[in-house]
Amino acid sequence: MGRIVILPPSVADQIAAGEVVERPASVVKELVENALDAGAREITVELQAGGAGLIRVTDDGVGMDDEDARLAVHRHATSKIRRAADLIGVGTYGFRGEALAAIAAVAQLELETAPAPGGEGTRVRVSGGELQEIEPVARTRGTTVTVRRLFFNVPARRKFLRSPRSETRAVLEAVTLLALTRLDVAFRVMNDGRRLLEVPRVASVGERVAGLFGRRLAQELIPVEGSAGGLSVRGFVQRPADARPTGRKAYFFVNGRPFRDPFLVRAAEAGYRATIAPGCRPTVLLALALPGDQVDVNVHPQKLEVRFRDRFLVERAVEEAVRSALHPLDAAAVLKPPSDAGRWGAPQPAPSAGPASTPWSALPRQPGTGGLAEDLFGERARGGLGSTGPAEPVQVFGTYIVYESSEGLTFVDQHSAHERVLYERAMQQLSGEGAAAQHLLLPITLDLEPAELEVVERHADLLRAVGFEGEPFGGRSVIIHAVPNPHPRFDAKRCFEELVADLARGRFGGWTNRLERFAATYACRAAIKAGQPLAVSEMRELLAQLMACELAPHDVHGRPTIVQLPRDELERRFGRA
Ligand code: ADP
Ligand code: MG
Repeated sequence: MGRIVILPPSVADQIAAGEVVERPASVVKELVENALDAGAREITVELQAGGAGLIRVTDDGVGMDDEDARLAVHRHATSKIRRAADLIGVGTYGFRGEALAAIAAVAQLELETAPAPGGEGTRVRVSGGELQEIEPVARTRGTTVTVRRLFFNVPARRKFLRSPRSETRAVLEAVTLLALTRLDVAFRVMNDGRRLLEVPRVASVGERVAGLFGRRLAQELIPVEGSAGGLSVRGFVQRPADARPTGRKAYFFVNGRPFRDPFLVRAAEAGYRATIAPGCRPTVLLALALPGDQVDVNVHPQKLEVRFRDRFLVERAVEEAVRSALHPLDAAAVLKPPSDAGRWGAPQPAPSAGPASTPWSALPRQPGTGGLAEDLFGERARGGLGSTGPAEPVQVFGTYIVYESSEGLTFVDQHSAHERVLYERAMQQLSGEGAAAQHLLLPITLDLEPAELEVVERHADLLRAVGFEGEPFGGRSVIIHAVPNPHPRFDAKRCFEELVADLARGRFGGWTNRLERFAATYACRAAIKAGQPLAVSEMRELLAQLMACELAPHDVHGRPTIVQLPRDELERRFGRA
């Protein structure tokens, strides 16, 4: 080793820059955050060649006078804190005073800014950390930062830039994250003159989601609202019926800040358990709020990581919040969603600015298509779908129950619905109560395959819990003395045969839990079949039972039990709307 020297500032700055400036997306993030800190209402990001050629961020924020403009590009130059104590509860995105200096150290940076609409501004040019020139410039209030030839003096870094397409994608992702938390700001991203993202200022997350990802996804989302201890979970998740294996989006925020956490994605998916087909990946956008001492968001300023004091609590709260979002009928499949306004509610005043504010918590619960749900739940509250209930249900195609309410038409798949009812009932029976079995005057005797006999032995306790009582009867036979009675047309013999055959063949995989697997299999085999004619009273009974379920809108294999045709959709089609 040689003698110690103090590194020249240009070298030290280049090294420090590595912390902040990894790729075009990190430059964009810093510049857009500066614009937000400056109170911008409108921010435009322009790229050339995905940012390798040029990155330009323009805002209409407070701007800087010439003295500040000069200082801004120096290391540790910040207007956001004055002393260490200011760090506590700092309300701005930036405060280290490093970003502009770091970017200027590894690129050609041009800052144009003006503090007032008068037209007198300042232009500062820095290249590779060297101040090139400062001159007056005419411009309106606000700031434009242009970054050219990123990493021109750090070839090793430049080599690591990916294709323009993937750098552009990373930039879009960075802007999307900020746009999801700052509804009060309009964002635009262009690459090589093409507009890739443009969202106006909005009042609700729904409108922002529609602007960023399209109306279709926005309409597929249902609101989430839950809390546990000091933790609250709010946001939106995709209707189970709309979840697909690909193209999922997962966004998490904690106290207004985006972060990534595969375990929380998994926890949210666990909330969907059995309401979606295996392999489907629902979109989730969830904002957590919890006391500052419960979470450390400064693990690494560039990595979107946070550390929770009680991770288990957070995961459970997320799972449960998602689970309970699937409960209301609003979570049921919709044939064609109603108009956007109806779903997301009337525009509300924009929430106050500042990254510390979590606009999502300011949202009232979305009214959504609650009408249908309220009709039904309202009926339930009055004691079932009785005499005052919606118009008489009818059965169509021997399989679907259709009924009318003020909000539209509701279709219920009789088999799936009954399956849901029996599944939840079986889960209760298996975990304690047991079922009311019906003792048979004439016991049923069955001949089974060896694998099936083994299933009967292995599942004897579960079979008894749902109401099947029996015993081996020598050789390959079993004799059954008592059976469950899930509905008047129940065929106990057939159900038992199908059930043990399914269990022996391991059908309905995907269920990790033994009880759940058994309950789902039993429910499927015991439920009213498609094609079975039903009397009006039976339909009413089934509907009432369904509406009393925890997860009424979803069957146990990832399909809907209910599909809604909103009245306004019908009217739209007939040109009455
Ligand atoms: P930090 O954001 O941590 O303070 P930066 O290097 O990103 O550090 O910016 C340095 C300073 O330059 C900021 O504190 C702010 O005063 C000023 N500044 C940077 N960007 C803008 C902008 N877009 N509008 C107004 N002022 C800005
Ligand atoms: Mg900054």
